[in-house]
Amino acid sequence: MDRNRGILIAGNWKMNHGARATSDFAAAAKSGWGSLSDRARKALAVTAGPGKLDALVFPPFLSLETARREFTGIPVAVGAQNVHFEEKGAFTGEISGAMLKEIGVGTTLVGHSERRQYFGETDASAKKRAESHLNQGFTVVLCYGETRAEREASRTEAVLERQLRDGLPAEWNERLVLAYEPVWAIGTGLTATPEQAEDAHAFSRAFLVKKYGADNAAKTKILYGGSVTPENVRGLLAKPNVDGGLVGGASLKAESFLALVEGAGSFL
Ligand code: PEP
Repeated sequence: MDRNRGILIAGNWKMNHGARATSDFAAAAKSGWGSLSDRARKALAVTAGPGKLDALVFPPFLSLETARREFTGIPVAVGAQNVHFEEKGAFTGEISGAMLKEIGVGTTLVGHSERRQYFGETDASAKKRAESHLNQGFTVVLCYGETRAEREASRTEAVLERQLRDGLPAEWNERLVLAYEPVWAIGTGLTATPEQAEDAHAFSRAFLVKKYGADNAAKTKILYGGSVTPENVRGLLAKPNVDGGLVGGASLKAESFLALVEGAGSFL
């Protein structure tokens, strides 16, 4: 299997884990780190390119500094769940890329279905954020995916096509990561089957080929998100176009997060 893209396991903590719980998570992750297999640890230690395993969490804003500080010694990167596209100014309640860079945050999450559902994010605003964050040097994880009603109406591909057409940055960037997250699978326990995930990922990659060319498409990671657990992660990652997971519930406990990392490590 082509693992040239490496694998990314990213935990989306949503509105969970304040500073204290983040500290507890880090302590548990550090004490469990030694139990990871040599294979997983070796993949985590690769610095770039093929065979590289990345582990990342997206804590809430108030826990970012704690996470940055307390993950020292273990290779768990830290990302932000919601970042404005402007670099500064009169945007009450918002956070800029520059503020995040100052504390060592290198990744942003864009277009998550909860941001779309509850906070008015659209394909267009996701694109605007993605372009701005990429220009500012961040890795960007751009989420998209169909609702249950859209899947039941056999509109999955049409919806993905629209989301990718309207949401992807105009220019390809090596720091762009996609996350296919069928809305019906998020937080429901209804994971897509590996075949359903692979179909959507292969469709997305074909879109990337048309938009950015075959070489760039082949280098772009596409994560799957939606009720990923330590039990089902291997089946999903066994598919050739699934390059990692964006994980909500199962990323909240260090033991479970480490089990996801271990599962991913077995492919590298
Ligand atoms: C998510 O938050 O992006 C997600 C996929 O959540 P869960 O794993 O809990 O379904």
